[in-house]
Amino acid sequence: MPKRRDAVAIDAQPSALTVLPGVGAKVAEKLAARGIESLQDLWLHLPRQYEDRTTITAIGALVPGVAAQVEGRVEAVERGFRYRPVLRVAIGDDFHQTLVLRFFHFRAAQVAQFRPGARVRCYGTPRPGQNGLEIVHPSYRVLSDHDDDALGERLDPVYPAIEGVGPATLRRLIGLALDRLPDEASLELLPAGLREALRLPSLREALLTVHRPPADADIEALLAGTHPAQRRLVLEELLAHHLSLRRQRLAQQAHAAAVLKKTALARRLQAGLPFRLTGAQERVFGQIRRDLAQPRPMLRLVQGDVGSGKTVVAALAAMLAVEAGKQAALMAPTELLAEQHLNNLRAWLEPLDVRVAWLAGKVTGRARTQVLAEVASGDAQVVVGTHALMQQGVAFHDLALAIVDEQHRFGVHQRLALRDKGAGGSDGGDTPAFVPHQLVMTATPIPRTLAMAAYADLDVSAIDELPPGRTPVQTVALSAGRRPELVERIRAACAEGRQAYWVCTLIDDSDEVVAQAAQTTFEGLSAQLSELRVGLVHGRMKATEKQAAMRAFKDGETDLLVATTVIEVGVDVPNASLMIIENAERLGLAQLHQLRGRVGRGSAASNCVLLYQPPLSALAKQRLETMRQTQDGFVIAEKDLELRGPGELLGTRQTGIAGFRVADLVRDADLLPRVHEVGERLMEQSPQLADRIVARWVGGAARYASA
Ligand code: ADP
Ligand code: MG
Repeated sequence: MPKRRDAVAIDAQPSALTVLPGVGAKVAEKLAARGIESLQDLWLHLPRQYEDRTTITAIGALVPGVAAQVEGRVEAVERGFRYRPVLRVAIGDDFHQTLVLRFFHFRAAQVAQFRPGARVRCYGTPRPGQNGLEIVHPSYRVLSDHDDDALGERLDPVYPAIEGVGPATLRRLIGLALDRLPDEASLELLPAGLREALRLPSLREALLTVHRPPADADIEALLAGTHPAQRRLVLEELLAHHLSLRRQRLAQQAHAAAVLKKTALARRLQAGLPFRLTGAQERVFGQIRRDLAQPRPMLRLVQGDVGSGKTVVAALAAMLAVEAGKQAALMAPTELLAEQHLNNLRAWLEPLDVRVAWLAGKVTGRARTQVLAEVASGDAQVVVGTHALMQQGVAFHDLALAIVDEQHRFGVHQRLALRDKGAGGSDGGDTPAFVPHQLVMTATPIPRTLAMAAYADLDVSAIDELPPGRTPVQTVALSAGRRPELVERIRAACAEGRQAYWVCTLIDDSDEVVAQAAQTTFEGLSAQLSELRVGLVHGRMKATEKQAAMRAFKDGETDLLVATTVIEVGVDVPNASLMIIENAERLGLAQLHQLRGRVGRGSAASNCVLLYQPPLSALAKQRLETMRQTQDGFVIAEKDLELRGPGELLGTRQTGIAGFRVADLVRDADLLPRVHEVGERLMEQSPQLADRIVARWVGGAARYASA
């Protein structure tokens, strides 16, 4: 890497947009609202479409649905007001073919332009109209006789709209920004060897190609996002994200952590369990043990399908902290789930004389004061709870291991907040001298590619095996018309001593409306199944009522539980063997998979019925089909990624990886191994260059870098 380049640091001081003529405070503000604050942000605001104005298509050669540029003379103009104002302009070309341009919004001045005989050049997508083809709201220009009517030499970019900045202004501004692109050498950050190896253009060339493609550019590739110019940008962006995550990790690991290597207590716990660990559980616990024996903080994500037995692995890890005379905390996203952990841990740990404390929002008054005192004195060795664990005023004596369950519900910030409860940490937010090891658990498997990109700051383990004796859940999709049959199925299952869930979902997922639907379903089913004990849980119930209903179901005091998706996460009732999900077509794959995971937890053959409202959209059909075909969370996650895209799979909040400007993890997955390899090399050999790549692409989002 020549030194000279590092010295230029062009992108270290991004020029403010107000240097561009025509950008006043107002426009700058609108652009800033979309995150565009510098020339560089404009360079990276890439077209979403291209229009080919390099040729004129004869009217007779137009194809419905295919955008084209057309030229002709005005033959007739008609203004109508049938339902709303409409302007119809018929133009004809030299071959006596006619095309109608139709406008619903127009000004008087516009109408005046279309004198019969005037020459009009327009661009748009023709569709069949009342009399032959027509184009609604084409972009157009009336050509005067001395007009320069030369055709464009390049494809015209169409940019994603920005509220308050018209498309023409935006295009002009981007053009001006591109005119200020620095020369190739000062702009380029990627090592030449890498570009050559991948046959990718320089950044300058790539940007110019993407914004101003030559007429003969491979437009299909451009539209698909696979053009070398785009791949070049994608590579750099992925690299920037990777580097930023890796730096977070290094910063994290620069902290000291307690060395936890005594395993006698964990062995005692294991010996007392009523089951043997699966091979996968053993393996993952082994990985955790190795991490904990290091003086650096562990940062490990454990992915494991619903029911794969993550809790016991967490408990085993906690024993290493306890045996070292320190504390472990286990945080779950809902009170119900936290309470389930509490019960499990108490049952497992109290025989070992390990003191387990409980801290949730509803623990108040004197009870709270007492728990806080136990946590602060170290009397509480394992602390289980909800977000309440992270609140100000919760001070641990010596927290050595922070376990976060169902990571998707928590953001990076929250993880850091719990970490900051480590020894010597104050509530002032200072990073403590010793930080706790972190174990993050999720039942929503993340596809391999995504995990690679999203969790470069974490080590990832997978519990990819279910405990023995589980029988697969038979899944069927039925149209809602077959609902009555299901009542009989529930009756039959419950007559055998089994339990069933009926899950209500609606399009409108406001708590109130769904709660109402659940209430109605509850009343209906209670009447039809009068011999059964029916329970109800929904989001509008008080926490205590919800818990009472869940507990009654868990304890076998109710046979059928009518519920909204509040039962989604982690609840364990092995005797439940039938689940019916209403409006299943409305739910995403991850959620369906989570819900279905509530059954098939015991040894009885289980069934899941996905009720849907026909007609099914193509996407919904694929989702239901996937659910029918597989129960493997990893396969489902891959499919989900394919159907939904990474942005929706992991919100920005969770990982900061959504919101790529150009990369698409599904399309560009093949670049990831290369990104990793190059990333590692850059971090080692040219850390400053790595910094600049991160600053260019990730910018503000890198604020966790020092975390
Ligand atoms: P999840 O990974 O979804 O959090 P849990 O930890 O709740 O799963 O475990 C699901 C159930 O399986 C619990 O009842 C748990 O006690 C049980 N379990 C865990 N590991 C094993 C095992 N190796 N063999 C048998 N049952 C197990
Ligand atoms: Mg769990």
